[in-house]
Amino acid sequence: MVSRVIPVDPFDLTIFGGTGDLARRKILPGLYRRFRAGQMPETSQIVGAARSDLTEDQYRDEVHEALKEFISKDKLESNAVDGFLSLLRYVSIDATGDKGWSELKEHQRGDHISAFYFSVAPSLFGPIAERLHEHGIADASTRIVVEKPFGRDLETARKLNQTLAQHFDETQIYRIDHYLGKETVQNLMALRFGNVLFEPLWNSQYVDHIQITVAETVGVGGRGGYYDRSGAMRDMVQNHLMQLLCLIAMEPPSQFEPDAVRDEKLKVIRALDPVKPEELVRGQYTAKGKTPSYLHDVENEDSRTESFMAMKVNVSNWRWAGTPFYLRTGKRLRARQSEIAVVFKDAPHSIFGEEAGRHRNILTIRLQPNEGMTLGVTIKEPGPGGMRLIDVPLDMTFADALGAENDNVTDAYERLVMDVIRGNQTLFMRGDEVEAAWAWTDPIIESWESRDRRPYPYEPGSSGPEESAMLLHREERRWREIRE
Ligand code: NAD
Repeated sequence: MVSRVIPVDPFDLTIFGGTGDLARRKILPGLYRRFRAGQMPETSQIVGAARSDLTEDQYRDEVHEALKEFISKDKLESNAVDGFLSLLRYVSIDATGDKGWSELKEHQRGDHISAFYFSVAPSLFGPIAERLHEHGIADASTRIVVEKPFGRDLETARKLNQTLAQHFDETQIYRIDHYLGKETVQNLMALRFGNVLFEPLWNSQYVDHIQITVAETVGVGGRGGYYDRSGAMRDMVQNHLMQLLCLIAMEPPSQFEPDAVRDEKLKVIRALDPVKPEELVRGQYTAKGKTPSYLHDVENEDSRTESFMAMKVNVSNWRWAGTPFYLRTGKRLRARQSEIAVVFKDAPHSIFGEEAGRHRNILTIRLQPNEGMTLGVTIKEPGPGGMRLIDVPLDMTFADALGAENDNVTDAYERLVMDVIRGNQTLFMRGDEVEAAWAWTDPIIESWESRDRRPYPYEPGSSGPEESAMLLHREERRWREIRE
């Protein structure tokens, strides 16, 4: 199946932090893929703005190296690479001083869409926003993109929102949560609201429970200092897992339009019950063989920060009362696996007797690896020998269904950046949403901090601490396996 690529209007995109890790790994390779797919007009311009003193040619060389590292060789045709590199400009800038700003202004062409990606530490958001205005670079049509972490609690998130609001209207601010840019996540909305099959069953009458798992095999890597101040709750649950929960739980918006969708997500966050201390499990990975422990990785022997988190969350509203959402995320787990599993209830009465066993429909939405959805259905085991039931998957792996060569199965970042250029905020978090998420998260964190407990230890390569399994066992449920 060949997909349609609809070009965006010509734009000037400035990436503050254009030499940083995120720009090299995600933003620039993503833009290259969009350029190669023909979505980006050749009159567009990408301006890297960062602290290093680089000439434009040196910056192009750096970006070229990043493309070689993060784009597969067969997609690096020299004409596409040269064309893309020719769109690049570079400005050496000081976000907190005067250097570079007049030069940056010279790069702005009034007749193009103008966007600024703040791929820098949040402490620089304010100084950059201020200078964009002081130097007459930004106006009411400018769009800005900001990265996580968006605050570390309600107070800091509020301050960040207030800082941005001094210079930009909410309609100009694009807060990125790259989970929302994933193909499957949007497909979840297509599945729910584009079919008649699922929505009638999408409630506590038919759904037993929902599991959201984001398992990583990596440790904290070079981010130890940042991670140790943050932990799984702040780094993953408050933003990514919460966004996934919202998309599963929300009511159908009246239209697929930014505020209609975000209003519904906000209602879900506001309907979340506080989490009881006995319904959450925090874990920390230990050492195993050559794999160092969390404490070693963050160089803090006394750290009480969690690298694993599992919890039961209740959404207190008409649709979901009595259907728990179990969330789980962690580092150094058995496999890299992100998925949502909607576990339906048993059939009300089994006509096949005990020996047919217990079978449940499970809709699995895989975010990585291998994005796709699987619906587990129960059928008769083929062959003679009576009515034995087995579960088989109805599988829809996007790369298979749409063709592995389909270049339009895009990475989250490239999709989101194109949405910024299109001026579509649907897949970006609104300020009040972020604040509501922190308002729910803060008391949970405060409650464990006040008890000063160490997280439970777990072995690298496992599914997390035993206590996490217990969280479901005691309710006669089981986590889905984290499989290699
Ligand atoms: P990084 O440290 O690799 O890069 C920082 C960039 O900011 C560099 O280009 C540097 O030149 C620039 N910079 C720093 N101080 C500056 C100043 N005073 N004036 C001008 N430029 C300055 O950081 P990163 O990993 O690319 O992260 C950037 C932002 O994205 C951070 O807010 C981070 O939390 C967020 N983020 C990063 C990742 C990731 O995978 N790297 C993922 C999610 C969010």
